[in-house]
Amino acid sequence: MAEADQPVESRARHIVYCGVCTLPPEYCEFGGTSKKCEEWLEKTYPDLHQQLYSEEAINANLSTLSITAREKAAKDAAKKEAKALQAETRDAERKASSKIQIKRVERNKRKFVTVVIGLEAFGLDLKKVAKELGKKFATGSSVTKSPAGTEEITVQGDVSDDLFEWLIDVHGDKVPEDNVELIEDKKKKAAA
Ligand SMILES: [Zn+2]
Repeated sequence: MAEADQPVESRARHIVYCGVCTLPPEYCEFGGTSKKCEEWLEKTYPDLHQQLYSEEAINANLSTLSITAREKAAKDAAKKEAKALQAETRDAERKASSKIQIKRVERNKRKFVTVVIGLEAFGLDLKKVAKELGKKFATGSSVTKSPAGTEEITVQGDVSDDLFEWLIDVHGDKVPEDNVELIEDKKKKAAA
């Protein structure tokens, strides 16, 4: 609903939250991103920015904002920041401990497929990557179910070395080289 269509009463109650720190703009100074907050407010709500950031407004605000309210806002902001940091750390840890495996698998006599396991942990779309691989190696490539029920990519033919290079080349921004394992296939070595 457009703002102008809303009843006056609900328009008056429309509460603005900062697009940067999510606190009401009056409390942005406690969010630890006050510079960015002010820029956001100036761009998004110029009137409100004028109200809150004029010199008189700042002086008046400081004297009327109760100490409890300030402490609460500061505490909320700290909590939010800690939570965000935690989520970031968890994500980084999960990625660091995830492994991608590129496995050569012998299907029939001297017929190989290359199986890629674990790409999804790095935010890659398996279907998309399977398509890219099919194009790159001009061969069959699809998302398949592993015996354990997880999804993996199966590429026809033995392309593991080239696939490794391609993966780091094309998706190296998401996939750290150290997390990719090339699994040697002993049968192939014996046959060669
Ligand atoms: Zn803010």
